[in-house]
Amino acid sequence: MIRAPRASLSLTPEPFQRMRNLNAQPDTARGPQQHYLQALAGGTLLLQRCTQCGLHQFPPRALCVHCSATEPGWVIPSGLGTVYSCSVVARRIEDGGDYNVVLVDLDEGVRLMSHVVNWPGISPPIGLRVCAQFESSPDGTRLVFTPVGGLQ
Ligand SMILES: [Zn+2]
Repeated sequence: MIRAPRASLSLTPEPFQRMRNLNAQPDTARGPQQHYLQALAGGTLLLQRCTQCGLHQFPPRALCVHCSATEPGWVIPSGLGTVYSCSVVARRIEDGGDYNVVLVDLDEGVRLMSHVVNWPGISPPIGLRVCAQFESSPDGTRLVFTPVGGLQ
């Protein structure tokens, strides 16, 4: 019996894999997404906040999605948010076991995808208050969320 070689499964979701081997210094000349990812790889969460209308946006873009102003500014958000939804990705034990993928609504009004860690069980409840933190691994730095307080 001939078996096809098994594709290697990564334990790190694709958006975090792209943060590998990036310079610590942001490079705004390569675009807002690159600037965001480089800051994230260095352990800083950045959001865009429009200097004209004052609203936040995510993911990073060259124009404000609310008023079309050019070059939205950058701010460091509170890191606090609420779990909006949760999915569980089933994975074999030898590949690391199941893990959650959550959408978190940051208090600044944007929604982003990540994981909740330090939760007893795989699936955190919708409405759980969480705070951003960074985890370092051989694959690089990744943004995750940890519970703070209870349900909202
Ligand atoms: Zn704006």
